[in-house]
Parts: sequence; C-alpha cells; structure tokens
Amino acid sequence: MDIIIWLIVAISLTWFMSSVRSSLSTYTLSFAALMVIGTFLDIIGFVSWLLFAVIALPLNIDSVRQQFISMPLLALFKKIMPQMSTTEQEALDAGTTWFDADLFRGNPDWTKLHNFPKPRLSSEEKAFLNGPVEELCAMVNDWEVTHEHADLPTEVWQFLKDNKFFAMIIKKKHGGLEFSAYAQSRVLQKLTGVSSVLSSTVGVPNSLGPGELLQEYGTKEQQDYYLPRLVVGDEIPCFALTSPEAGSDAGAIPDTGVICHGEFEGKEVLGMRLNWDKRYITLAPIATVLGLAFKLQDPDHLLGDIVELGITCALIPTDIEGIAIGRRHFPLNVPFQNGPTQGKDVFVPLDYIIGGPEMAGQGWRMLVECLSVGRAITLPSNSAGGIKTVALATGAYSHIRRQFKLPIGKMEGVEEALARIGGNAYLMDAVTTMSTGAIDLGEKPSVISAITKYHLTEKMRACVIDAMDVHGGKGICMGPNNYLARSYQGAPIAVTVEGANILTRSLIIYGQGAIRCHPYVLAELQAANNPNNEQALSDFDHALFGHVGFAISNISRSLWCSLSGSRFVPTPFNDETRRYYQLLSRFSANLAMLSDIAMLALGSDLKRKERISARLGDVLSHLYLASACLKRYNDEGREADDLPLLKWAVEDSLYKIQVAIDELLHNFPNKWLAATLRLIIFPMGAWLSLPKDTLDHTVARILQTPSPTRTRLGQGQFLTRNNTNVFGRLEQTLEDIINAEPIFDKVCKALNEKFPFYQLDVVAEKGLAAEVISSAEAELLVKAEQGRKWAIAVDDFDSSDIENKKAT
Ligand SMILES: Cc1cc2nc3c(=O)[nH]c(=O)nc-3n(C[C@H](O)[C@H](O)[C@H](O)COP(=O)(O)OP(=O)(O)OC[C@H]3O[C@@H](n4cnc5c(N)ncnc54)[C@H](O)[C@@H]3O)c2cc1C
Repeated sequence: MDIIIWLIVAISLTWFMSSVRSSLSTYTLSFAALMVIGTFLDIIGFVSWLLFAVIALPLNIDSVRQQFISMPLLALFKKIMPQMSTTEQEALDAGTTWFDADLFRGNPDWTKLHNFPKPRLSSEEKAFLNGPVEELCAMVNDWEVTHEHADLPTEVWQFLKDNKFFAMIIKKKHGGLEFSAYAQSRVLQKLTGVSSVLSSTVGVPNSLGPGELLQEYGTKEQQDYYLPRLVVGDEIPCFALTSPEAGSDAGAIPDTGVICHGEFEGKEVLGMRLNWDKRYITLAPIATVLGLAFKLQDPDHLLGDIVELGITCALIPTDIEGIAIGRRHFPLNVPFQNGPTQGKDVFVPLDYIIGGPEMAGQGWRMLVECLSVGRAITLPSNSAGGIKTVALATGAYSHIRRQFKLPIGKMEGVEEALARIGGNAYLMDAVTTMSTGAIDLGEKPSVISAITKYHLTEKMRACVIDAMDVHGGKGICMGPNNYLARSYQGAPIAVTVEGANILTRSLIIYGQGAIRCHPYVLAELQAANNPNNEQALSDFDHALFGHVGFAISNISRSLWCSLSGSRFVPTPFNDETRRYYQLLSRFSANLAMLSDIAMLALGSDLKRKERISARLGDVLSHLYLASACLKRYNDEGREADDLPLLKWAVEDSLYKIQVAIDELLHNFPNKWLAATLRLIIFPMGAWLSLPKDTLDHTVARILQTPSPTRTRLGQGQFLTRNNTNVFGRLEQTLEDIINAEPIFDKVCKALNEKFPFYQLDVVAEKGLAAEVISSAEAELLVKAEQGRKWAIAVDDFDSSDIENKKAT
C-alpha cells in the first residue's frame, strides 16, 4: 500500500512540477526529498538510489551534461537544422512578438491581455474622422469612380492632398498628421465602406512606401526634402518591389543597380546605373517619386570589397530619362491607380539610396521591418470596415426584403449566412483594434500582422460572398444602386497583395511564429550558428534543457487539461466567458506540445511540410482572433447584449482550432505518434461544434434590429442618413419599415384581411378610409413604402449602353 501511495505522490509531483515549469535543480531536490521519505518507509533501497544518481548527477553537473548530452545533440542539431537564406534570416530578425508569444507558449496570462490599454482616439483624430473623413465620404460616389472615371474625381484628389490624407503616418515636425495606428485604421475603415478605390488610394502612401521608409531610415536631407512635399501631395509616392519574375519570392528580384561613375545634372558623380521591370505597382501611373527595390552590385569595388551588396531601396524621381511609367493595370473593376514601370540604364547618384550609401544592401531588412507594422493596418482595416458596413446593410436588407410573406432574414437558411457576417464583423473589428493597439504600444508585431492580414482578408472575401447570396439578384445587377458587387469583385486583391494568402498561411504565420514566439528555438538556432564553439555549447545547453522542461510541461498541461476538461484552469471572469478562457488555455498548451513534437519529428522537413505548418499556424491564429474578441468584450464594458456576437466569434474560432488539430493529426506523417497525440488531446474525441442554430438566430436578429449592440457593430462607419448615401438610406428604411409594421398589422386586423407587405401606400389609404390609423401613421406607411421600393430596386440601362460596354 505504501508503495502505491509513494508512486502516486511521485507521479503527481513530477506532473505538478513540470506543469509549473520548475527548474531541473528544484525538481531534483524535491524528488530527492521524496526518495528520503521512501527510504524511511522502506520502499526505496540502494538500487533505486543508484538509478537516481545515474540520472540526476550528469543532468545537474554542467560540465558532464554539456560534454555527454548537449555536445552530441548540438552536432546532430546542426545537421538537421533547416538552412536559412539571408532574406529568411532578416525576415525573422524583423519585428517583435507580443501576446502571440503567450498564446504560443502554452499558458497565456489572460490578466495581462486585459491589462493592455484599450486603444483610444485623440481629440484631433476624432475631429479628423468627424470632419474631413465624413466630408470626403459624402463626396465620393463609387459607381462614378469605378465605372465612369476609372479614377477618383479631380476634386477628390485635391481634397485628399489639402487635408493631408496621405500624411497620416508622417510626423508633425515634418507637417504630417502623426496619427496612431488605431486612428489610421479607423479612417481606412470608414473610407472603405464607401469606396475601396478611395481606401486603397489613401492606404498605400500611409503603408509600406517612401513615407514610412524615409521616416525610419532616410537621411536628414532626404527627410527634409521629401516629407513636407509628401504631406501636401506635391509628391505622389509609390513603392516598386514586385517584378514579373519575382512575386511571392520577392527576394529574388532580377532588377539591378550597378555602382559606377556617371554624369548627373551636369556633374560627374558616384552613382548607380539602374535597370528594372516592375509590375502591379500601386499609384505608379501617377507617381512623381518611385521607391525602388533592386539588387545593388559593386563590380569595380568603388564602395568596398563586397560585389553583391544585396537588396537596396532608393527614391527615384519619375521624370528622369530612361524611366517608363504611366501605363495602367485594371485590377478587377476596382480601378485604383496601379501599373507597371520599367527603367533602362537610369543613372542616379548614390545619395538617392534611402538612408544614403551606408544603407546599401539593407533594403530587405527595411522592407520586412516596415511590413511587420503596415501589414496589420491597411488591408485588415479595409477588410474590417468593409464587412462592418456590409453587415449592417445586409441585416437591413434582410428585414426589408420579403419573400413567402416573410422578411428573408427570418428564414433559417438566410440566418446562417447573416450569423457568419455578424459574428465575423464583430471579430474583425476586435482584431484590428487589438493589432493596431499593439503597434501603438511600440510593437512591430510581425507574426500578429501576418495573422491579421491573412484572416481578415479571407473573412472579408467569405463574408462578401455570403452577403451577395443574401441579396440574390440585387447583388448581381451592377449599377449605382449596387453597394456590394465592387467589394465582391475586388476581394481577391486584398487576398493577393502584401504577401499572397496561401503563402502567408503556409509559410509565414507558423514559420515565423515558431521561431519568434518559441522561448528556446531561436536561442538554439543562434547557438548552432555561433562560430565560437565554447559559447555555442554553453548557449545550446541552456536552451536545450529549458526546451526539454518546456516540452514536458506542455505535455503535462495538455494531459491534465484533457483529463480535467480544463475546468481547473484559472480565468479572469466567472461568467459565461469562463469556459472560453479555459478552452483557449487548453488549446494553447496543445499548440505548444504539437509544435515541439512536429519540430522534433520532422526536423528541417517541417519547412517543406507546408500543410502541417499551415495548420499549426491556424491554431495560433484562431487563438489570437478569439483573444481579441474577449478583449473587445471586456474593453467595451462587458455589455450583456453583445454576448451573442462574442459567443459566435469565439465558438467559431474554437471549432476551427479543433478542425486544424484534427486535420493535422490525420495527416501527421508518423501514425503512431499521431495516435498518441490524439489520445492526449482528444481522449473523448473531438467534441466542439460550430455555433448552434439558436445562436445563429440571435446574431441574425441583431443584424436586423436597430439596437445599441447593432450600432456598436457598425461603429465608425459612414452611415449618415441622406439620399446620396445608400448605407444611410438603408438604415433609415430599416427603421421606417420596423415602425410601419405595427401600423400595417393594425390595418390588417381592423379590416380583417391579411394584405401582402407591399403597396403600403395603398394600405395607408385603406387605413385612413376605415379611420383606424392617424394621418401621421399613414405618412409613415407611405415613407416606408418609398424606402422599401428603393431598397429592393436594381438598376437597368438602355441596351445601347450595355452593348457599348458603357454600363459594365
Ligand atoms: C492590385 C495589386 C497591387 C499591388 N501593389 C503592389 C505595390 O504597390 N508594390 C509592389 O511591389 N507590389 C505590389 N503588388 C504585388 C503583390 O504583392 C504580389 O502580387 C504578391 O506578392 C504575389 O505575387 P504574384 O502575384 O506574382 O503571385 P505568385 O508569386 O506567382 O504566386 C502565385 C500563388 O502561389 C502561391 N505561392 C507562392 N509561393 C508559395 C510558397 N512557397 N508556398 C505556398 N504558396 C506559394 C501564392 O500564395 C499565390 O497564391 C500588387 C499586386 C496587385 C495584384
């Protein structure tokens, strides 16, 4: 009996100490104490002590451990370690980790999450949103932009320049607006609801491009010259990296700059002769200054010993001889300015390199550092803003449009699509807020920005498809009254740019996440690359044993969470959200365990096993997305009425985590290992399901019924009620219809007849004749009928317009 009790205590101790991540020495001492007790109880004898000594002593004596364990493992590690190119190394070195690291490490601190300050707008930022942004939204008619002008009208361009829309990121000392990332996101969200041409045009100069590169790396002369000119729109910038031969593999650009002497503006100077062929460059057709990425070479050693200096970024005025620029691409009927550019033997001084000649070869690092910020702002904000507006519009339309004598939004099939739109709109706003908040705290969150970019652009595409389905033919027939089709057409643009999504999911999210967020892998890689053998061994030994303890602790936590249903995981709140924190903690432990086992089992093959990597990235991503929702709910005061939206978003994320783990185990190359992992993670099988139909129903109702919750869902969007803003008019019509419904019912009841819910003006006349409604009520019916007819109408054209392609 004593033996059994002793064994249970020993196993529990091992389990507990690994769960709390005790150090090796603490664990050894605790186990030694247990052995002493065992000796007194006559359970532990000489052989057990000998075994203990054989295991514990080498592990605890540094020199022995390093010599006999760490050294051979370091040699093996060097052999299987994935080879990293310089561009990959620079991508890894760029940026910082934030709450993503907590989620990756298996034991997230939820109090820490909630203690991050809630992003807020300054009074200046609020005034900008309520002033120039509101005014700009009212100026733009997307049909005219996309169909008639294929560009923004001249007065809109001027308004953008006059109000410094291109200078949101530029510091005040250079005349810019110096807005927070959060404020930039709010501006873009509002603009994109009106026109994606508008939000792309504003987004690009404020994202990765000359403005940001100059501020971060430019020389004082470059900053003093260009930044004030960019602020007022005297210079229009673009940034050219992509070439026909190098898209996703941007590090492989064939464009070159060769250092040589030449004549520039009548003087003999040291410069570079540039040759490039770039495509897809946003704003290029109208740009006055081209941020150019190319590979710099110094074959005549004019700068030093190195011939291949590497990727370099320079600012090239577009009026220099030899530059071809001005032609346009036509991206999916969303005709923002975008086109190719070529340069043939263009000679410029070395001073044109951003940051001057000493920044030669530093281009890739500069780009990935800037991307780790910009990727979390522009495209995610455009996606979130678009879907927030679409959510309200689709909700309103679903209540206004009736078939089978019912609002279509009451049909369960439509509710399913509406719930996806509503839940994702809540999530997307939560994620942009949290990610831009991280940037405003000084982070350059490279993994988070990849997660945010990938998932928000994917969700935008999926939600627009849902919205199109709900609108039926109204979504399909193009014209000034179609507020959906351009978003539907343009959705793949956001998916493709700033790192096409398949690549982002397959390589970047987990590839960077595993190395950046893991507490030991980066240290192990750095140790293995350290030419100082002694230091390498010491660093590797330290990282390795930390790693082993970390791995054991995550296995223990995973097992414990599975067996206990994670019911004992502490949570910051004891309400309906409690279970969500517990399940996210459980999946976080699972991710940490799976990640280590995948790295151990697959080694350098993991880099090629993109679908394993993608699924691990999905787990990390959905942990992050759900955390952002929990933070939003808390930051907004834990409004009980918002709970259905939170529940939908978190339950959808939890389900997707389960699917990702399930698929990963199903496809794991080692079947026995996969079976063991499945037993640890899903001892009772996969048990989570998508949000229930009843929850879908509640979310669908929220979208169709004006309320503070619905208002929060569309917060910040352009919903001003006038007849030129379709979204404002839809909001008004929804309210009018809801107000008209009881009046309509009153007339039906009084006349004992069930009229169809159209020709409300005729119903009004009948009600007045029967003296069952007041004239004010009759007016409401008439107004509701006008709005209803407008809302369900689609555009038609003279056939010659279509034939002449004027109307498509
Ligand atoms: C409208 C528009 C605007 C743009 N604006 C700019 C700009 O201003 N400046 C600029 O420099 N560039 C710009 N780009 C370029 C954009 O960043 C690239 O299109 C993008 O990087 C993808 O390159 P690609 O189109 O050549 O696709 P490819 O590289 O040919 O990729 C095709 C597909 O293969 C996938 N893929 C590639 N490699 C892998 C891999 N290892 N694993 C998994 N999947 C992979 C990709 O995800 C993609 O789905 C723009 C592009 C467009 C369309």
